[in-house]
Amino acid sequence: MPMRHTDNLARRLRDLKERQGQARLAHDPVAFPHRYSDPRDIEVVGWLAAALAYGNVTAFSAVIEKWLVLTDGAPYRYFLNFQTDQERPRYANLYHRFATASDLFAFALMTHRILQTHGSLGQIFAEGFDEGDDDIHPALTRFVDAVRQQFEGQITPGLRHLLPSPEGGSACKRLNLYLRWMVRPADGIDFGLWTRIPPNRLLVPLDVHTFRIYRYLGLTRRKGANWKTAREITQILRQIDPTDPVGYDFALCHLGMSGDCPAIGQRDRCQVCPLLTTCQRGRRLTQLKIGKRLTPPSLSFE
Ligand code: SF4
Repeated sequence: MPMRHTDNLARRLRDLKERQGQARLAHDPVAFPHRYSDPRDIEVVGWLAAALAYGNVTAFSAVIEKWLVLTDGAPYRYFLNFQTDQERPRYANLYHRFATASDLFAFALMTHRILQTHGSLGQIFAEGFDEGDDDIHPALTRFVDAVRQQFEGQITPGLRHLLPSPEGGSACKRLNLYLRWMVRPADGIDFGLWTRIPPNRLLVPLDVHTFRIYRYLGLTRRKGANWKTAREITQILRQIDPTDPVGYDFALCHLGMSGDCPAIGQRDRCQVCPLLTTCQRGRRLTQLKIGKRLTPPSLSFE
């Protein structure tokens, strides 16, 4: 991407981020770990919230709420001292789309085992991280392998969906989101708890909103939201901010989620959007007659 364009994009993204601030925090799954002050609780609650953050926001938020009720206000202590026989029946009505009650119980048991053997999720992740790695791919692969080893017996499709591996080419949106929360410096949204991992090794957590907006901005032409696409986009964002390439993720995600950048293009939204001068779709739309709409491209998620 030409330097002139990245300079303009950097200014526009900073403007968007400043305008938005933390106003959308309550509408994001990161709001769940923000209820806690102990870093050990934040880490564990973020782990659950990120794992379940797919599908309808209201639906997954209700499941996270239900799960947190089980932890009785002390999530870290709950998972550390998880009593298998006592807890099993309490999970009978806890499920979310692809994740059955058995999957979520297995997920809880796996979390318990990690806390017992490694002390924290951050510790097991850091053990697989190598300073020489270009990005988070090798460390995340090792992390997922190590975590999956904690499951008893077969890894069901629901567990595989909760814990995808970058080895399979998946964008691993929710794992990259969790890493963003844990690794990026504390800014009122992310927490900066895992200080052994440099933020410039992170990859963008590609979701349905950010993927289409990155395409509008010309950061990728790929039609599939997979690991390769996330890497391609992040490489351009590194030109803009070499130390913190995923620092605009929250603002871009909520530009889409809030409806300020709808999937069906609307000229009036583009006219007040901070990204307009650098957005290919916005520039095209604002030259069209009012009322004319562009249909979104067909995209695929892996
Ligand atoms: S200019 Fe329009 S299409 Fe582009 S990001 Fe903004 S609202 Fe979306």
